Amino acid sequence: KFDARIKGDYKYELGELASTLNYMAEEIVRSNQIKDEFISSISHELRTPLTGIKGWSETLTMGGFDPEETKLGMGIISKETDRLIGLVEEMLDFSKLQQNEMKLVIGRVNLKELLQETMLNVWAKAEQRGIQIKLDDKTLQPVTVVGDGNRLKQIFLNLVDNAIKFSHENSWVHLVISRAEPGQVLVEVTDTGIGISEEHLNKVKDRFFQVNNQGGGTGLGLAITQQLVELHHGDMDIHSELGVGTTVAVKLPLAEPEDEAQLADGNGNG
Ligand code: ADP
Repeated sequence: KFDARIKGDYKYELGELASTLNYMAEEIVRSNQIKDEFISSISHELRTPLTGIKGWSETLTMGGFDPEETKLGMGIISKETDRLIGLVEEMLDFSKLQQNEMKLVIGRVNLKELLQETMLNVWAKAEQRGIQIKLDDKTLQPVTVVGDGNRLKQIFLNLVDNAIKFSHENSWVHLVISRAEPGQVLVEVTDTGIGISEEHLNKVKDRFFQVNNQGGGTGLGLAITQQLVELHHGDMDIHSELGVGTTVAVKLPLAEPEDEAQLADGNGNG
């Protein structure tokens, strides 16, 4: 009887072990696929700016250009280098988030100020395409959230950047800040651009997914944005209609008075 029970236990444990190993094997295959997708999606994006930098640096090395031409070439090298830095930073952020190693520098953040700064950051880019950016403030009080100011800025920069990228020329991008629910702030970023079809809507938050590569980019932006919102205990929703436009709604918890006390304590002690 005793032997039979032990055999039964073994059988059960072996079964468990087999299914765990199976699961691990599937995970390895899946993560290899993700790495392959990552490499192929990123390589192309890295090559484009590198080609520009190499071309212009070789040309300028030959010499004999007037100051205006030299300035043009150097300007392109600088712009393309910024683009490379942006791509590498995006890759690093993504990998940190994947490995649960994104560290937030927590503080109290004035969200209205942050949105105004965000608008200033993309102003020139929007203007180049005749796109107006408007901020509509529906809250009557200051809006403070607890979080990492730089990462929160990254969330909204990415959303506004997408809104501009996928908008038609001479249109507008609208930012609305409101207090939709108690204890929550809602920021909506709306464009009247190309929109996203129903079929693609639930995929755009996936890593690497792009409807088509029309705006360049890596397809990592929304995946990173979504995870950063979650790290701030918020949530992100996308509503869109093909040919009509897109609204991305981000909800974040408002800072509570206790947070203020805690932060003051933290600052006082450390
Ligand atoms: P990237 O912008 O680098 O391609 P994202 O993850 O930010 O990556 O976006 C993924 C895809 O979702 C985009 O390539 C685009 O097809 C679609 N998308 C994102 N934002 C918008 C928007 N505001 N309007 C239309 N399509 C969008």
